[in-house]
Amino acid sequence: MKGKKRNLAAGGLVLAAVLAAVAAEEPRWRHARELMVQHQIARPLDGREPVRDPRVLQAMRSVPRHEFVPANQRDFAYDDRPLPIGLGQTISQPYIVAMMTELLQVKPEHRVLEIGTGSGYQAAVLSPLAREVFTIEIFEQLARSARDRLARLNYTNVTVRHGDGYWGWPEAAPFDAIVVTAAANHIPPPLLAQLKPGGRMVIPVGNVFQVQNLLLVEKGKDNRDLKIHSIMPVLFVPLLGEHPPAAEK
Ligand code: SAH
Repeated sequence: MKGKKRNLAAGGLVLAAVLAAVAAEEPRWRHARELMVQHQIARPLDGREPVRDPRVLQAMRSVPRHEFVPANQRDFAYDDRPLPIGLGQTISQPYIVAMMTELLQVKPEHRVLEIGTGSGYQAAVLSPLAREVFTIEIFEQLARSARDRLARLNYTNVTVRHGDGYWGWPEAAPFDAIVVTAAANHIPPPLLAQLKPGGRMVIPVGNVFQVQNLLLVEKGKDNRDLKIHSIMPVLFVPLLGEHPPAAEK
């Protein structure tokens, strides 16, 4: 009996030590996130255009990026670069995520579509800014793990679907904002059709393994007039799948 009690007490101590270790991790990550926001995003040290929207900066401060990378990449989670997430895919550089999010001008009542869920990080950053986030991933394994991760971290307004995002999500359309996080060689017409009048789309366009152009597409309120702005050169993994060539659209 005594021995059992001692074992229980010892077990309790081990549990307390584990919980303390987990709790002690958080300030370290929070500190790393703050530095990321300050030095890479809000006031980049190297002359990059700062991201200023306070709601976006707050979202970048709040999302635990280290939870979105594989265990062997955790120590690099807040570095100024993309990281591998398996299957030849990457989680984008924090600065690019922040910049794309700012360009979308998401409002609390907005419904947002993301193409290329990957780790779920970009969707998690959009989650506190929007009413609902819909995100599509072409690899089933990534879709499943992102869905589990987002649920575990309580991002309850994000819905993940496995499929080819080129075709959008007609049942959930139209969207106030669309963000594509893989490079296409043209703007997918189905995505344009699913954007609300007055809506904004951010998409890297260009050929694989070449520098691509990050485009901001603004759809006129009359549903026809399109304004396309070229924002900056970027390098994304390609949008996969069988799609009609641009000329046939
Ligand atoms: N936004 C992600 C990173 C994007 S990497 C994050 O925050 O982690 C680009 C992702 O797009 C990859 O996961 C890739 O598998 C996915 N992808 C590529 N082509 C796609 C397509 N046609 N439809 C949906 N997802 C696609």
